Amino acid sequence: MKKRTLAIALLTFLAQLAVAQEKRQQNPESSEIWEPVPRVVTPGELSPGAASGTTAPSDAIVLFDGKDGSKWVSVKGYSEANWSGVTEGSNPWPIRDGAMYSAKGASLRTKQEFQDFQLHIEFRTPDKIEGQGQGRGNSGIFLQGRYELQVLDGYNNPTYSNGMVGSIYKQAIPLVNPSRKPGEWQTYDIIYYAPRFNKDGMMLEQGKVTVLLNGVLVQYDTRIKGTTEYIGYPKIQPHGKGPLLLQDHGNPVGFRNIWIREL
Ligand code: MG
Repeated sequence: MKKRTLAIALLTFLAQLAVAQEKRQQNPESSEIWEPVPRVVTPGELSPGAASGTTAPSDAIVLFDGKDGSKWVSVKGYSEANWSGVTEGSNPWPIRDGAMYSAKGASLRTKQEFQDFQLHIEFRTPDKIEGQGQGRGNSGIFLQGRYELQVLDGYNNPTYSNGMVGSIYKQAIPLVNPSRKPGEWQTYDIIYYAPRFNKDGMMLEQGKVTVLLNGVLVQYDTRIKGTTEYIGYPKIQPHGKGPLLLQDHGNPVGFRNIWIREL
């Protein structure tokens, strides 16, 4: 009996000791992490007249500043066969009032190629309504030259849901439709994670994209199934870095304040 009492007393003492020790360890500093220190980035200014977004932060690559279109070259079409390799030379899109407008049957691609990134881009569909559905304010932003985030006049303009503004064309319907009226500036903020392939071209990981349209979430960590085809199903094509491509679909859609941060 005496032994048992002694054992209980010892256990109680050890338990109290453990609690005391734990309390000693759990001071505020013990859960503070000081390294690494995230580097300082100066944010941009609020973008004038747009629904949301800013001009380029200090660590972004400015792809179009409202004046200089030289980071883009003309391509014949928006399938890889037409944009990779040979391009058509300089950027033929007219620049007016700080924006460049899709024209002349020429799509554009960036000279530079990218992997994972954050992209900000502003667009404006024509204020004069012409056409309907896919024929009204159509353009597109092709991520790595292959995966189209649709640009379209989405204001009272019925079309197939997986081809409306905010869709990954014919793959992913946007969560909501936060479209502004025709002629108003709208913003896209895109966070893109490129697909991964092994050296034999087998896909190891799908590409992923999160998109805000006018500051409203429309794609959340959406898996990209493959190339965005007009006819037929997505195709998986192994690739490395790729350009951004802006589509000319016969409607004069304006673009401005384009910047990208590589991740
Ligand atoms: Mg399009």
